[in-house]
Amino acid sequence: MLLTIPEVRDALLSKRASATEITTAALQHAEAENPKTNAYLHFAPERALAAARKVDEQIARGEELGPLAGVPIAVKDVILTKGLTTTCASRLLVNYIPPYDATAITRLEQAGGVIIGKTNCDEFAMGSSNENSAFGPVRNPIDPTRVPGGTSGGSAAAVAQGTAVVALGSDTGGSIRQPASFCGVVGVCPTYGRVSRYGLTAHASSLDHIGPLSRTVRDSATLLAAISGRDACDSTSAAAPVPDYTALLDGNVKGLKLGLPREYLKDLTSETGGLISHAVEVLKSLGCEVREISLPATDYAIATYYIISTAEASSNLARFDGVRYTSRSAQSDTLADLYRNTRGEGFGAECKRRIMLGTYVLSHGYYDAYYVKAQKVRSLITQDFARAFQEVDAIVAPVSPFPAFKIGEKVDDPIAMYLSDIYTITGSLAGIPCMSVPCGTTTDGLPVGMQILTRHFDETTMFRLADAFERTRK
Ligand code: GLN
Repeated sequence: MLLTIPEVRDALLSKRASATEITTAALQHAEAENPKTNAYLHFAPERALAAARKVDEQIARGEELGPLAGVPIAVKDVILTKGLTTTCASRLLVNYIPPYDATAITRLEQAGGVIIGKTNCDEFAMGSSNENSAFGPVRNPIDPTRVPGGTSGGSAAAVAQGTAVVALGSDTGGSIRQPASFCGVVGVCPTYGRVSRYGLTAHASSLDHIGPLSRTVRDSATLLAAISGRDACDSTSAAAPVPDYTALLDGNVKGLKLGLPREYLKDLTSETGGLISHAVEVLKSLGCEVREISLPATDYAIATYYIISTAEASSNLARFDGVRYTSRSAQSDTLADLYRNTRGEGFGAECKRRIMLGTYVLSHGYYDAYYVKAQKVRSLITQDFARAFQEVDAIVAPVSPFPAFKIGEKVDDPIAMYLSDIYTITGSLAGIPCMSVPCGTTTDGLPVGMQILTRHFDETTMFRLADAFERTRK
């Protein structure tokens, strides 16, 4: 089912297929393909068919259809869905059924979207390879011996495999962009606050975003527009108006000023670097002006991110205590034992590592040396971008230093895993919109993504550039 959103719409409006038929076919296809990748943790046939029936009724009544009408959508299993198990890929939440929907889910369904299932990910969205799931790793559909990237690996694999038209993921430090790059699809991390985080299980609250994955730039733009905007349930959601992104995709990017950060281009493996350089030449041929820029605080980004994100994660994960939400450890005589046993048995190694690290950097005596210092460096990173955007309209960079690696290759070396996030976490720390758009494949046939970053709330320029580039590849 390699359809796009406009193709689904066309099929519905021309009556070639009903939403129910499309949904039934999507569910069957996704279930049949899932053993190859382990992309989905569970399917939602009843909910999907009910949503599809609504769309068919609208068509029968001749009503105007929402922008996502009848579109089969996969949702990362850290986003709450009322009445539908939401595990965060953790043993702790195997049986957790949320009592409410995330705002992004409500909006997506109001727009006519059909949720077909929940996708696998790293436990509580912590990782870079999707190997930290309590329910087994996701395999990359392009090469099943390799990781799909993390943490939204299931969503990226589902879209790449063609079992969903589009998907929702979450991005804290690269978790949409990096899997999109590894699986050869489009992935968007919007401006911080663009999409409500209400109902997104918190990893690091000041860095978390919900965003789309798709096979075309236009589809991501459509999905993002549908879920964006102020939400009274999330005080950090922004009231900024949401433009009609797709109306502005005209392929014309002549005169756009692009910056290439020197610090991002120095240690790339030659193949990834070569593909990015080639993409930059293509953008020049479209009339963009390209210049080198500098983001000098980049060297400190990994340390800064892993201090701030673990500090916030240690606090956010405290709620999983065996009293609320979670399954409870069976043999515990005291309250302290209940906490210790539930959390000891429930969390995987990576979550425990981050709880330890985060608790340490927040502890009395180390708070100023680590956490406060990291917050200051975060400001420097944000200022780097602000300075660059006085000169250029968009920044072009790699997403990852290398393409999809082998399953197991980095699991025993958490530092190596953390280092792979170098090009994605800077944009996250600054809260600016950033996305990955496919820009070619290595000689081994592995996809590589180009990252585009723009000013706060200027997703429009980001989409226009990505779309113009995508047109050159068709
Ligand atoms: N790889 C990063 C981490 O493990 C990013 C995760 C994310 O964006 N959710 O923290």
